[in-house]
Amino acid sequence: MGSLKDYVAKRRFASTPEPRGRVEKARRDRLFVIQKHRATALHYDFRLEDAGVLRSWAVPKGPSLDPAEKRLAMQVEDHPLDYATFEGVIPEGEYGGGTVMVWDIGTWEPVEGDFDKAIRFVLRGKKLHGAWRLVRTAGRKWLLIKSRDRYVSTDDIAATKPRSVLSRRLMAGIAKASGGNVEKAATADP
Ligand code: MN
Repeated sequence: MGSLKDYVAKRRFASTPEPRGRVEKARRDRLFVIQKHRATALHYDFRLEDAGVLRSWAVPKGPSLDPAEKRLAMQVEDHPLDYATFEGVIPEGEYGGGTVMVWDIGTWEPVEGDFDKAIRFVLRGKKLHGAWRLVRTAGRKWLLIKSRDRYVSTDDIAATKPRSVLSRRLMAGIAKASGGNVEKAATADP
């Protein structure tokens, strides 16, 4: 079972619209989500459902479709499954304050390995597809790497597909609709 102890400890649910959530039962079709998050710095939160929670990594540069681009992925606290569709604004001053977009969503399937050292998996998202891997280098430091298949590309997908897969909005639009800092959010839009 995953644990949401760290997730809950970091947040004040009276002040943030993020879901409280709970550890769910393991399921066959596992959720995959990437949330674009303009907090103190822009990053992409990469989340894979495992053991009733979303295992989570903050990827500063976002995913790359180029196998030569190994993207740093800092593992962060497990998140509740309910978090997968959270799009909106975390108030400034709260943990992770800033605008959150659901940048990609779908399902994933493990191929080989585990969350201790390295795992190979397949993504079935709206933007990301095919074979990927996460490789642990030290402690919470991992690398997110595209594996070779027909979905390999040198396109900068973060730049060419910047909109929410839930609402088609850009970061500025999400911030505006939820009373967030539009100027700050707009710095994350192309
Ligand atoms: Mn984040």
